[in-house]
Amino acid sequence: MIGILVLVLISNYISLESRDVIVRDPQSIQESTIEYLPPPPPKFELGNIIKLARGLRKHFTPTMDQITDDIFQARGYMLGSIGMVSTSEGMVLIDAGENKEIASEILKEFKTKVDLPVKYIILTHGHLDHILGLPSLVEDNTDIISSEKAALVMDKDINWLGEYHFWARANQFGNAAEEYALKRLIELPYNPDQDKKIIVPTITFKDQHSFTLGDKTFELYLGPGETEGQIFIWIPEDRALFCGDLYYESFPNLSSPLLEARPVDQWIRSLKMIASLNPEYLIPGHTRPVIGEDKIQQVLKDHIRAIEFVYDKSIAAINAGKTAEEAIAEIKLPKDLAKLPQLQEVYGRIDWSIRGIYQREKGWYDGYGTGLNPLPEIYKAQEFVKLSGGVDKILLRAIELQKKGAHQLVCELCDIVIAANPAEQLARIIKSHSLDYMSLSGNGNMIGFYRSAASLERKAVGD
Ligand SMILES: [Zn+2]
Repeated sequence: MIGILVLVLISNYISLESRDVIVRDPQSIQESTIEYLPPPPPKFELGNIIKLARGLRKHFTPTMDQITDDIFQARGYMLGSIGMVSTSEGMVLIDAGENKEIASEILKEFKTKVDLPVKYIILTHGHLDHILGLPSLVEDNTDIISSEKAALVMDKDINWLGEYHFWARANQFGNAAEEYALKRLIELPYNPDQDKKIIVPTITFKDQHSFTLGDKTFELYLGPGETEGQIFIWIPEDRALFCGDLYYESFPNLSSPLLEARPVDQWIRSLKMIASLNPEYLIPGHTRPVIGEDKIQQVLKDHIRAIEFVYDKSIAAINAGKTAEEAIAEIKLPKDLAKLPQLQEVYGRIDWSIRGIYQREKGWYDGYGTGLNPLPEIYKAQEFVKLSGGVDKILLRAIELQKKGAHQLVCELCDIVIAANPAEQLARIIKSHSLDYMSLSGNGNMIGFYRSAASLERKAVGD
């Protein structure tokens, strides 16, 4: 409760920031002066604050889960969890999180439970939140295992597309231009190491790999989903399954807006493979473990049904010649699935998933000519400004729409003005305020993307 009160106070603090009228002088004889009073910064409703605070507490309170006598999971210390399996001959770690310092603290904690060397580190996939902590966990003679494709993903995300990838991740988590961003109500625990030193896996495999260590068997299976190189790890002696990011408590992030399209059809197949092993313990790379065969079968069945539903409906919409926007307007999860706590859209979103399926399964061209060789945006934008009678007309309409809460349309009108003339400052300022309002969401990624976008527009005008 105290936490909630603090959040309300922070929210009030933000609303006390001063607001000055911004004046845009006419740029031609036809234009008039615009005086723009920015709207007050948006306030989270108390209900949403409580929901977010609860979600964050549930998933990101540092917790050392003891799952069986020999299996532990450090969850909530950073974005990515680290699993530990102790065997009679040494420790096997699953994933490394995104921060070396925190990973090192977690290893110390593991060593208090079992003082044995780290023999293997298995990477469930190559995303930054699962690998950047690696250097702190590797000891002499530690082998690092991943799929061949995960090793390629690591090379892409850190090396040849690294600059973009780090920017995309910062954008996703709301940090693209931190000094220009609104104060956060709630911090996300994403703290990636900026040291991009990569440790290359020493053992890679294509589809399947297994080994024994002491009293335990580790069966590793390629199970594409969040990435092409995703794997899951089955420990038959304990009936425990580490599934990486193939399952976590949210509607899955079937498409991440700034990243390459994901193999949704294979994601379904991978979850079916996991269900067929009948695990007693399901240990995801984020959020809480699921314990009990029946419960696991139920959550997997619900996840599979939800993903299959969105995928099949999207494919049908593509075949029917519908646009992604038309498909998004039509495709809603069946009610019994939509109400399940583990399928709430707090991380992945159905609309973005549909866009991702369109992106992956069909090309970028709609077949109607105009989009085949489009002009740079500036041509259409300048024509539109001329037809509207001037930039001032468009911006005045944007301000009117902002007062009505039509923030997406505000952004689209401002983008026309910015495309016609990137030096038009007021368009960026108006847009940034609408983006602030759009960031009031129950979806963590949505909050991050809009927070970043607002800060990038402010940065562009040095506001
Ligand atoms: Zn992850």
